[in-house]
Amino acid sequence: MAERFTGTFEELKEKLRGIPGKWNDLNPSQKQLRATSGGILNWYPATGSIMFQGKSPGLQELQAYVVSKLADRTPETAPVATGGNRIGAVAALSAASDVPIDAQPPVAAAVPGRELDQPYSKSEIIIGLIGAVGTELEKVRGMLKQRLERCNYRVVELRITESVIPLISEPGDYDVTDHFARTVALMDAGDKARKVTGNNGILALGAAALINASRQVDNGEPLPWPRTATIISSLKHPAEVEELRKIYPLGFYLVGVQADERRRFEYLTKTKGILRENANNLIERDQDAPVEHGQKVTDTFHLSDFFVRIDGDDDRLRASIERIVNLIFGNPYVTPTFDEYAMFLAFAASLRSADLSRQVGAVVAVDEQVVGTGANDCPKAGGGLYWPAYNPETHEIQDQQDGRDYMRGEDSNKIEQGKIIDEIVKVTTKAGLDESVIRSALSASRIRDLTEFGRVVHAEMEALLSCGRARVPVKDGTVYSTTFPCHNCAKHIIAAGIKRVVFIEPYQKSKAEEFHSDSIEVGFVPPGTPTSVRPTVRFEPFVGVGPRRFFDLFSIRLGSGRPLKRKDSTGSTLEWKPESSNLRLQMLPFSYLRLEYVASDMFDRALTATKEKKDAN
Ligand SMILES: [Zn+2]
Repeated sequence: MAERFTGTFEELKEKLRGIPGKWNDLNPSQKQLRATSGGILNWYPATGSIMFQGKSPGLQELQAYVVSKLADRTPETAPVATGGNRIGAVAALSAASDVPIDAQPPVAAAVPGRELDQPYSKSEIIIGLIGAVGTELEKVRGMLKQRLERCNYRVVELRITESVIPLISEPGDYDVTDHFARTVALMDAGDKARKVTGNNGILALGAAALINASRQVDNGEPLPWPRTATIISSLKHPAEVEELRKIYPLGFYLVGVQADERRRFEYLTKTKGILRENANNLIERDQDAPVEHGQKVTDTFHLSDFFVRIDGDDDRLRASIERIVNLIFGNPYVTPTFDEYAMFLAFAASLRSADLSRQVGAVVAVDEQVVGTGANDCPKAGGGLYWPAYNPETHEIQDQQDGRDYMRGEDSNKIEQGKIIDEIVKVTTKAGLDESVIRSALSASRIRDLTEFGRVVHAEMEALLSCGRARVPVKDGTVYSTTFPCHNCAKHIIAAGIKRVVFIEPYQKSKAEEFHSDSIEVGFVPPGTPTSVRPTVRFEPFVGVGPRRFFDLFSIRLGSGRPLKRKDSTGSTLEWKPESSNLRLQMLPFSYLRLEYVASDMFDRALTATKEKKDAN
């Protein structure tokens, strides 16, 4: 276990005064001891963590000494909320709720021998928010907090920019009243934190460390906060989501907040007073910073568990957020909307794809009825895509030789791109140009974006073709696609007479919007907009419960969480109330190693009990 000290700087110096060396008060978030033996100790007061660096044997000596010195500390039992020692950590987490903390620690409440069987109804929940720059996340935060409190949860807010970034990377000086300067300074500091640590998920780890530092401790073991929700805003990189999902597997939810670019631009320029040109730069940088450790909001957004939209209709936003919280808290009467259902089917279709680079799925629906499905894969003669099947001669379930790309061992699209590059290099080097320069320029060019030579039929096209094979008209229908259509699919979607396209994942190489600006409108229809004179195909971001948690939250028997009941033994429906509800998916307050220990302990106790019974008989 990593070393930790949660007292003051003066107290730490006093405890370690036997070590010859020099203390450096580097900054408010880092203190350093350089021992004369060569070892270096770094102490981070906000989280209490102690890290070592330097060369052996000085490093080992220092480490051993510090461990022995800190081991005779007095046990920490005082609740953090009253202690002023954990500088920063507590102040950083603004517990914004009036909901009282339940003082009863949950582990003690478990019945010995039944720890794994008992649902932990006080389970914590961590909610991450993501939205492109200019999205009014505070609106969503406020509504979430309100609803979570109705479910008797205490809400703690953790803002990465205010609490985590200053711990690792001090943003430079800026005028606090200048919103543009502040945003740029914080974006720079976030990029720097990812770069200097070489870890794109570092800010999420910092958030977890702050939550950890805020915990009460019993016999050196951190305790869970009963019925507490932490809202982390905002996440900016896929690696941050990955880290939080690893740390809080069943207890972490990502909420993606959609707002049209026009709306975000207006918010930045009108509400925040940023110049138009600066607002445009911010929006561009925020989506996908062209540096290795830059933020990647576009690549992160589609990882969300839930998608909500801000379009000026606050009643609708509030209703969406309440429904999400009700679902998380096991309301058995929340069922999928048609859009959610169709998108889940599109996702299910994507799972059959054996494509070498990505799995995409799509469905076509007409009048709220799914009429066709498709995935991206190679076509087979007779219609449709390949399925693996049992071969009685080889006794294996297998695909046709030379059928799908993985059976042929290559991606024809990449091979052809390579051939084009080779042809150009051949001609230009003959003319005396430098081969390596030409080759790297071509490799970096959009030749690599060409999809022309792929053997796979795209999911949207296959969904439309499946309707053709079944002689089902698709006019005025909707295409649900897990990914934004490419320009090639887009023109066929328009020609087929489709009215609406709903998508989750962006596809930046798509030229659909640019090439077909005459026929396509991307984004939500703003509330109150009159039906446009010219008929267009509307391409809308998906809103609702995403495919990731669809199964866990909507299946009343088979999800990962507790099963739900809708009626009692007499056949009457059971009432669900937010104030007495519990989380559907609960995190037991044990790590897997502790769970393993608990399991073996339970087994031993059961064995003893059986043996005692036997002896008694
Ligand atoms: Zn396509």
